Amino acid sequence: MSQKDIYGWVDQSLSTIKKANWYRQTKAIAGKAGAVVELNGRQVVNFASNDYLGLAGDERLINAAIKATKEFGTGSTGSRLTSGHRDLHRELERAIADLKQTEDALVFSSGYLANLGTISAIVNKRDVIFSDQYNHSSLKNGAKLSGATCIDFPHNDVDALRALLAKHRQNYRRCLITADSVFSMDGDLCPLPQLAELAEEFGAMLLVDEAHATGVLGKTGAGVTEHFNCTGKPIIQIGTLSKALGSLGGYVAGSAKLIDFLRNRAATWIYTTGLSPADTAAAIAAIKIIQTESGRRQELWTNITQLKQALGKAEIVPSESAILCFGLENPEQALNLGQVLIKKGFFAPAIRPPTVPTSRIRISVMATHSTQQMQNLIDILQTHLPTS
Ligand SMILES: *Cc1c(COP(=O)(O)O)cnc(C)c1O
Repeated sequence: MSQKDIYGWVDQSLSTIKKANWYRQTKAIAGKAGAVVELNGRQVVNFASNDYLGLAGDERLINAAIKATKEFGTGSTGSRLTSGHRDLHRELERAIADLKQTEDALVFSSGYLANLGTISAIVNKRDVIFSDQYNHSSLKNGAKLSGATCIDFPHNDVDALRALLAKHRQNYRRCLITADSVFSMDGDLCPLPQLAELAEEFGAMLLVDEAHATGVLGKTGAGVTEHFNCTGKPIIQIGTLSKALGSLGGYVAGSAKLIDFLRNRAATWIYTTGLSPADTAAAIAAIKIIQTESGRRQELWTNITQLKQALGKAEIVPSESAILCFGLENPEQALNLGQVLIKKGFFAPAIRPPTVPTSRIRISVMATHSTQQMQNLIDILQTHLPTS
């Protein structure tokens, strides 16, 4: 075979992806992050971002990032265990531990890497992982990377999980239960208190991914763990700095011993460059705002409630977060409504199988959407969603 055929499969794969209608492309957003952004040269109200509190464009985060860059430079220049560790990193880790009310925390370059590194460090081939079938890709790939036996349980089905634990737990050394705390494609919550009870009963560790919950849920914005009064329980909390915190990076929060262990065993932390000064400083500023300005979270929940009250019956499952999904009868209808929304100046994606079981429009609400912007969106959705 000639050299130029070696990569011929790429073209074939791409055409298969296109034929199945699974082909995806990036869309460029112009201008500053916020409730209104520029898409294809037009101003659209942004119902597609994870910037729930509107902090990614906040002057205080921007200024913190500029200040840290001027003081420390653009890159951290090395891994945390070599030349890349700064006091700023510890300051952020202490702020996360304070928000989460855990003994300590560790920041990774992304939430994805926090899951890969943590899961693959704490279990291996002698162990077993039980994971919710709707878990995020990073939890699933972390489980694969660990080499542990992976058993999926039906979404949020505590009885099914109990039966699986009863059947399989005793065949393995360590056991880990994993779940998103807010599920990203429906906006529903995991039954955390029941998961914690099962973990205790069966001698399992429990890891929850608070990516869409931190800053959004809980009295102080600490997430679903706080929302369900599970603060202080032996739960490993993963999260991201890139959603409500408006920065970039990920973290794990837990006991001081666990964090110390991860600093020695999490490959995606040890062998990668430390977080940049700008991202670190922006995240510190964000946590300060989350802890001192509960009004932002209240504004977010006012908007969520407005949308739920107007359209709740069209929701696929009742959401308990800033992610609300409204069902359409088929993929074509979802795509059409997505197009109608764009034409009217609203950016909200149509999500279709195979990403999710049923076609939908997925709305991410922000604290900084105005009441009028919310009402305009509701008016369009009410005229286009199925009425039953
Ligand atoms: C977004 C997300 C991640 C990844 O976080 P990044 O910091 O963007 O890598 C992990 N888990 C869940 C549940 C997420 O929604």
